[in-house]
Amino acid sequence: MRIGIFFVVDGVLISDTLSVEQCQQYGDHAEHGAHYDYWSKLKPSTAAESAFKAHAYDYYPRGRVVFDINRHQVKLYVDRCIDAEALVTIQAAFELTNNTRVSYDEHYQCHRCNQMFVDDFDEIDE
Ligand SMILES: [Zn+2]
Repeated sequence: MRIGIFFVVDGVLISDTLSVEQCQQYGDHAEHGAHYDYWSKLKPSTAAESAFKAHAYDYYPRGRVVFDINRHQVKLYVDRCIDAEALVTIQAAFELTNNTRVSYDEHYQCHRCNQMFVDDFDEIDE
């Protein structure tokens, strides 16, 4: 079981994970990573990572896996448009069981979900 953040870029999962034991605890839950920091520090080495960097950090669907320490329960927070196929990929990458609770979190909105979205990032590839 792993904890962390992820993005789904045209079907490809880009994630930053740690094992639960290595994670920082915040009150009653453990988590790892920050979406913006990860995006800003990433040096792309694949096509998906290049596409990811060609837009603002919140352009692609994203989410987070946290561990609820009191309940000993993993929670998977996702953007509304992450589909069943992407969920399977996420569960495999984070070594989660099929019965992991999935929540749709308004914090995680991509350019399609967020009507206020502005891609305020200069595209270098165009
Ligand atoms: Zn979305």
